[in-house]
Amino acid sequence: MKPVVRKPRYCLQCDDGAVLELGVRDVTVHAESVTRVVPEIAGWHCPKCGEIEFIDRDSAERMDEALREAWEEARKGEADSIKSIRKKLGLRQAEAGQLFGGGVSAFSDYERGKRQPHKAVMILLNLLNHHPELLNEVRAAA
Ligand SMILES: [Zn+2]
Repeated sequence: MKPVVRKPRYCLQCDDGAVLELGVRDVTVHAESVTRVVPEIAGWHCPKCGEIEFIDRDSAERMDEALREAWEEARKGEADSIKSIRKKLGLRQAEAGQLFGGGVSAFSDYERGKRQPHKAVMILLNLLNHHPELLNEVRAAA
């Protein structure tokens, strides 16, 4: 029997000529701290960066769906975390919006997942979550 010779396919994401591997694999998707395993994804897989060139529509659709769900869950987690930190600090939504920027309705939007705060706001909120005693210094600086 003659072996099947395929032309190698190279990853378009990796600049160093990483060779894609054809196969069916369970793939893990990440959205911030949320992960989901999507079983039996068919396609050309990059062993270096995880990029996939899909060869069937079902795999592509299941990956899209899993990513969408993972991001939804991550946003919900972030929204819940913002609300919990704000309450721990004893701030009303409007007060938090004035203190951290974004306007009086910013925290209402963040906590309903309608908008995402700037990364710097999340860093500051997480810092204050661990060191709530610094709130007065933040107030004085604002
Ligand atoms: Zn790659």
